[in-house]
Amino acid sequence: MHDYDLLVVGSANADLVVGVDRRPGAGETVLGSDLAVHPGGKGANQAVAAGRLGARTALLARVGDDDHGRLLLDSQRAAGVDTVGVLVGGAPTGVALITVDPSGDNSIVVSPGANSRLTPSDVRDAGSLLAAARVVSLQLEIPLETVAAVVRAADAGFGDRSGPRVVLNPSPPAPLPADVLAACDPLVVNEHEARYLLGDDPDGNATDPEAWAAALLARGPRSVVVTLGGAGALVADHDRTVRIPSLPVEAVDTTGAGDAFTGALAWRLGVGDDLETAVRYAVRVGAAAVTRAGAQVSFPTADEVAAL
Ligand code: ADP
Repeated sequence: MHDYDLLVVGSANADLVVGVDRRPGAGETVLGSDLAVHPGGKGANQAVAAGRLGARTALLARVGDDDHGRLLLDSQRAAGVDTVGVLVGGAPTGVALITVDPSGDNSIVVSPGANSRLTPSDVRDAGSLLAAARVVSLQLEIPLETVAAVVRAADAGFGDRSGPRVVLNPSPPAPLPADVLAACDPLVVNEHEARYLLGDDPDGNATDPEAWAAALLARGPRSVVVTLGGAGALVADHDRTVRIPSLPVEAVDTTGAGDAFTGALAWRLGVGDDLETAVRYAVRVGAAAVTRAGAQVSFPTADEVAAL
C-alpha cells in the first residue's frame, strides 16, 4: 500500500524580487520597487503543482529555522502537501535574489543555504517516505550526491517490493552518473538541458528535438521527455517518439511552467497513467500555468485544467 502518489525531493527557496529601471553594474547602487517575497525553488514548486491538482504528495527538503522557511512550509500545506519530510535548520533557507527591469530581463543570485545541507544521511533517515511513494521526482538544486542516493535507493527497491519510479529534471544541468541516468523514467529536459547533457555529441547541435531525444536515450534512461515551451513536448522511449502539441494560450509569465509540467507529469505517472497520457495532461497544466503571473500562485487546480 502506498501513502503517496508522489514524493518530491528537492529545493525550497524564497524568491526575493525587486523591480528596477535598470539592473546595476559593478560597483553601482540603484533604487528599486518594494520587495516581493514568493515561495519558490524547483522542488517546492513541483510539490505545490501536484498538491493543487489533488495529488497525495510529500516533499523531502530542507529549510532554515526562519521566516522564509515558514513561508515555504505554509505554501506547501496550503496546497495539501505533506511536510513531514521537510527538515528545518542547519543553515538559512535558500533564497533567490532577483532584479527585474521593465523589459522583463532579470539578474538572479541564488544562495542555496539549507538546500545545500540536504545530505544523503537525511535521505536515509527518510527512507520510509521513499518506500511509501509510487513515484519520486528530483531536480538538481540540492547536492548531486543526495540526488544519487535517492535514485539508487529507489532503484534498489525495498526487499521484495520495487521502489518508486524515478522522474528527474536535471536543472540546473550537471553531469549525471551513468547509473542515475539509467534509472530515469523519464528524464525530463528542456532544450537548454538537452544540449548541455549532449555536450560534444554531434546530435547536441541538431535543431530537431527528436535527434536530442534519440541521443539522450542512447545514454541509458528508460524514457525521455523534452519540453518545447509554447510548442508542447516530445515523449520518447525505446519503442517510439511522439510529439504532444501545446494548447494555444496567451502566455503571460512562463516562470515555473517547467516545474508545473514536471510535477503534474510525475503525479499522473503515480496514479497509473502511461507516459504519453501523463505528458498530454502535463502539457495542459503547463499551458494553464503560463496564463497567469508568478510561479506557485499560477499553478492550476484539476478543475481549471479540465476547463482549459
Ligand atoms: P522550462 O520552463 O523548464 O524552460 P518549457 O519552457 O519547455 O520549460 O515549458 C514547460 C512546459 O510548459 C511546456 O512543455 C508547455 O507544456 C508549457 N509551456 C511553456 N510555455 C508555454 C506557452 N507559451 N504556451 C503554452 N504552453 C507553454
